[in-house]
Amino acid sequence: MNDIMISENYIIACLLKIMDKFCIFCGEKPESKNREHVIPQWLIRMTGDPNRTVYLGRKWTSSTLDKREFSFSSFTFPACEKCNSDFSYLEARAKPIMETILTRGPLDSHQWDIFLDWLDKVRIGLWLGMLYLNENHRAILPMFHIGKRIGSKDRMVIVYEIEGDGNDGVGWAATELPLFEYMPSCFTLTVNNFIFLNASYDFLFAERFGFPFPAKRIHREDGGFWIEMTAGTERLHFPLVSKRFKTGGTQLFQPVIPYVHFRSECGEVADYSELYKVPYVKSRCMDFKTGRGLIYRRDCNHLVEYPDAPVRDWIPKQKFARGEVQHQTSVLAGEFLEDIYRNHPSFDALSDNERERRETEIESAIRLHKTIMDHFINQKDMYY
Ligand SMILES: [Zn+2]
Repeated sequence: MNDIMISENYIIACLLKIMDKFCIFCGEKPESKNREHVIPQWLIRMTGDPNRTVYLGRKWTSSTLDKREFSFSSFTFPACEKCNSDFSYLEARAKPIMETILTRGPLDSHQWDIFLDWLDKVRIGLWLGMLYLNENHRAILPMFHIGKRIGSKDRMVIVYEIEGDGNDGVGWAATELPLFEYMPSCFTLTVNNFIFLNASYDFLFAERFGFPFPAKRIHREDGGFWIEMTAGTERLHFPLVSKRFKTGGTQLFQPVIPYVHFRSECGEVADYSELYKVPYVKSRCMDFKTGRGLIYRRDCNHLVEYPDAPVRDWIPKQKFARGEVQHQTSVLAGEFLEDIYRNHPSFDALSDNERERRETEIESAIRLHKTIMDHFINQKDMYY
């Protein structure tokens, strides 16, 4: 087992309480004073007054946990000028897709691929942004930044529709939960009358999809993990993820071959293409070279390939009252984060001390996560 997977997780670096400025796209020190809007300005304009303030959780660094309010226009984080302009193409492509969604128009599979890229960007951007805002109180050293994480791991989105109530706006949930800080794999984004429950993680459903998967995953001291990859079963096992989500939404899945995260022991890109070069995998890819799978829509207990011509198949079958669906999807995102977090690589290769430290850390993170989740679940009446 010589190969390494760059983990979704993090390294806890005890000396890293104060973060140096880094570009949220590439992780390098930004050369210029460029700033990136994690929630893009076009989305802020599309959902209300661009000068409105936004509630951004609690100040975890203050003893009174004060509420943090921001004007949307100043919710920005450092970025290199080059990265900023490189990634503006994604924003330019995501905007008309969002407009089509909000007007319930037809979309093709390539547009969903772009939209899932954009959700990766927003999810990781919110994660890095919250680390900045909270002055990295948990001392997390990000193992990746936006650039490396877009379109690089299995991903899914469930689209829920809200009954028209005129309460336009943009909001997100689950990003403040302790487990999201450790592992930014699942969140929800509400945009006017739609909610997107988005998740992406290492081999999230590779095995059940019949793709190659790691038979063994063993944690290393540096935060990544060793993997032993094995050929896929070339059979679909339903459901793709064990979590049961609220019905009435449209579930879309995209397998992704995580080429960029495979590394050899000396840090070079490890080549697993032979394992993937089989007709089963190739025929299920939109772009085999970059590892992008086709988009699939769940239809009861089947997966249907999403067409590459624009269709309205993505429009949810049901509409829900805003408070109800917002509360339920936030709870589901929090629970799914816990499921993913518990399924961590084994600690067998770590020293006794290190294993004990990590086990304690995981237990206390889950305990805190559950406490906050219970509190949120009990606030149900405020939503319904
Ligand atoms: Zn950069």
